[in-house]
Amino acid sequence: MNVKTRFAPSPTGYLHVGGARTALFSWLHARRHGGRFVLRIEDTDLERSTQESVNAILEGMTWLGLEYDEGPFYQTHRFEHYDSVIDDLLARGLAYRCNCSRERLDTLREEQMAAKQKPRYDGHCRALDVSPDEPHVIRFRNPLEGSVVFEDLIRGRIAVANSELDDLIIRRSDGAPTYNLTVVVDDHDMGITQVIRGDDHINNTPRQINLYQALGWEVPHFGHVPMILGEDGARLSKRHGAVSVMQYREQGYLPEALLNYLVRLGWSHGDQEVFSVDQMIELFDLSEVNRSPSTFNTEKLNWLNHQYIKQADPARVAHLLSPHIGDLGIDPAEGPDLVTVVEAQRERATTLIELARISAFYYRDFEDFDVKAAKKAFKGDAAEALAAVKTHLAELESWEREPIHACVGATVDALGVGFGKVAMPLRIAVTGGAPSPDLDLTLYLVGRESSLRRIDRAIEHITSNTQS
Ligand code: GLU
Repeated sequence: MNVKTRFAPSPTGYLHVGGARTALFSWLHARRHGGRFVLRIEDTDLERSTQESVNAILEGMTWLGLEYDEGPFYQTHRFEHYDSVIDDLLARGLAYRCNCSRERLDTLREEQMAAKQKPRYDGHCRALDVSPDEPHVIRFRNPLEGSVVFEDLIRGRIAVANSELDDLIIRRSDGAPTYNLTVVVDDHDMGITQVIRGDDHINNTPRQINLYQALGWEVPHFGHVPMILGEDGARLSKRHGAVSVMQYREQGYLPEALLNYLVRLGWSHGDQEVFSVDQMIELFDLSEVNRSPSTFNTEKLNWLNHQYIKQADPARVAHLLSPHIGDLGIDPAEGPDLVTVVEAQRERATTLIELARISAFYYRDFEDFDVKAAKKAFKGDAAEALAAVKTHLAELESWEREPIHACVGATVDALGVGFGKVAMPLRIAVTGGAPSPDLDLTLYLVGRESSLRRIDRAIEHITSNTQS
């Protein structure tokens, strides 16, 4: 069978991590089976749907690399088609008009609640022939007997008695078709074989299966992905921090790190943590997805991001880093090659923002010394050591790593002190205390002029501090 899956977000907000994970699972299932992946925008709620949200969803999917083979399809472009399906159901007696007033429905509900019954429509209009000229909704005539049974790809067998389900509204009084109708029509028309979605829809599935059956359509398979919780055990939401996928980009995460984090949220393969996209495609299996909710763990995401920053092609990291460098008001063209800086610094950063922050000193003078680092490095004869090494460095013919290294060595020998007595103050003088690689590489990248200027500045700093 030709596998086809879909992601069907409602454009009423940004793409959040829960949606992105559902999209990822759906996408992986399609890719794993050589199938196709469809993007469908469920924009029937005209009041809450916005173009901005559509754009945010598309942007998020593109950033994560979840490319779709078909779509985006918009439900608002398909109203005529939904109408014809509803008319067909009406003509065949599988749906009916209902003009129950709000008051009647409210009273019914109150009575049912008082009798400790599940509130449900009582089928009052089933046998009445409500005129199309009166204000009305259309309800689906749900079977009264039997039950709906399906094998969920994640949760296993699920059975719901039809007596639990009521006659659901498929067209509102304003003429708009409802979610349960449009989703069935679309999944059928688009040839979806596996409907993979959040388990907040699990109660809709039996109703949808009844609709498929009434329409004489083949029922697809369903897989309901458990929700994501915050570390406090409550459903993941804004108050837990970033939930929008694009916020992660702003915060300096690599898309492959977020993707890797999301695939592991509810799915595992042995104790492997790091998965390339190709490995995910090869190994991902819906039947191995956890049935219980997963907890979002920022520390683990940070760990993965760090791994990816360390491993990814440095040119690519540099490319992703440059906007963050730009945010600091730095033009990377005015300093050392950014790719070389990435290679030198990347082991020391968890996010691109941090990488930008700890690399700023290569491009511009830092404002203040890190207090702790300065206290430790600028003591004893630090000023003398700096003055001595500066004399040597200033005489260098070529500003290359090897001669810089030799210079520090020669100063150490001439002063007859330990290496650290020269190297430590020199490092802090030039970096201000930011994490940095080998001293010769650091100085080489900072450049001759800036290095010498910063050594002078450090000497001044030390002398003025000792005088005061
Ligand atoms: N549009 C629905 C939502 O955003 C998803 C519907 C579905 O996947 O069936 O929750």
